[in-house]
Amino acid sequence: MHHRPTQAKINLSAILSNYQQAVKLAPKAQQLAVIKADAYGHGAVDVAAYLEPHVPAFAVAFIDEALSLRAAGIDKPIVILEGLSGEEELRLAAQYNFWPLLHSNEQLIALTALSPVPDLHCWLKVDTGMHRLGLTPVEAQSWVDKLTRLMQRKPVLASHFSCAEEPDSPISMHQMQQLFALAAHLDCEVSLANSAALTTLPQSAVGWNRPGIMLYGSSPIAGKSAAELGLQVAMTVTSQIMAIRDVLPGETVGYNCRWQADTPSRIATLPIGYADGYPRLINSASEVFLHGQRAKVVGTVSMDMLTIDVTHIPQVQAGDEVELWGENIPVNEVAAHANTIGYELLTRVTQRMQRIYLRD
Ligand SMILES: *Cc1c(COP(=O)(O)O)cnc(C)c1O
Repeated sequence: MHHRPTQAKINLSAILSNYQQAVKLAPKAQQLAVIKADAYGHGAVDVAAYLEPHVPAFAVAFIDEALSLRAAGIDKPIVILEGLSGEEELRLAAQYNFWPLLHSNEQLIALTALSPVPDLHCWLKVDTGMHRLGLTPVEAQSWVDKLTRLMQRKPVLASHFSCAEEPDSPISMHQMQQLFALAAHLDCEVSLANSAALTTLPQSAVGWNRPGIMLYGSSPIAGKSAAELGLQVAMTVTSQIMAIRDVLPGETVGYNCRWQADTPSRIATLPIGYADGYPRLINSASEVFLHGQRAKVVGTVSMDMLTIDVTHIPQVQAGDEVELWGENIPVNEVAAHANTIGYELLTRVTQRMQRIYLRD
């Protein structure tokens, strides 16, 4: 069915190995596998099916993501990180064993107003400093009391770090102390650490951790590579050269003549563009990998194509494979050239990119 040679190879055993690396960082804790946003672009159903025997539960952002996993036969509990609203969502959650991370008085009132109250394993989000979602510690305390009475089970108390990728952040320390003090007082389990906190703040990695980006082999912190953290790259995006031409000094390449040759140059064209998820906003330092070396992307990235300068690699031929990011070019590097982070590039790989799954 697929004729275009542009593809994302997804190494599922790398994702499992990265999950096991997260477990090693916090062997006494439980780790949810965060597979929101189609498993950060890797394909949530394939990733979940592969990880399912090894994880206690998954996490996604909202209920539709969880329902698609159930429709695909995934059975493990699924935490819904943005909580649930409305009777229908709450009843579906009870039916399908979704664990909502409830973050507002409105969501909790909607739940406790139902009769009978659905039997849900509730998590409560406490705002300890991110100031995006969550209950105040005082609100959380009163809801813990109420839910414990109604459900005969204590909710898990969760919060989210705003600066976990900064080592020794006093803000992270403060967030951790607030959540842990509240949880100790109320005798609840906690959930706090994301990927970055698992590596920078191991004291926070207790209860239920929520690693996402590290499962996909992308380093969650600046200054440490994925390999240094024992992570394996899960997605490698490749394409093949479709055309090669020589351009003379003074000639330009691509839309708006943004690149001009100052010496005789050889330009190769690849069938991958911004409609596949390669960022149009890259700066002139962005590189790809072919024949064991790097080459620069030149000119404006088009919707379906981009051009690279292969003057220094004389053996290049049409049909040669080129890596856009993956094993040799970290996705975080391309992202930095586009003024963004690896998370955004991974989640923006579009549906027309063919995904090939490698299993062990
Ligand atoms: C996305 C998300 C995570 C995972 O974060 P990573 O940085 O990818 O590890 C954890 N917790 C919440 C609430 C999230 O939204």
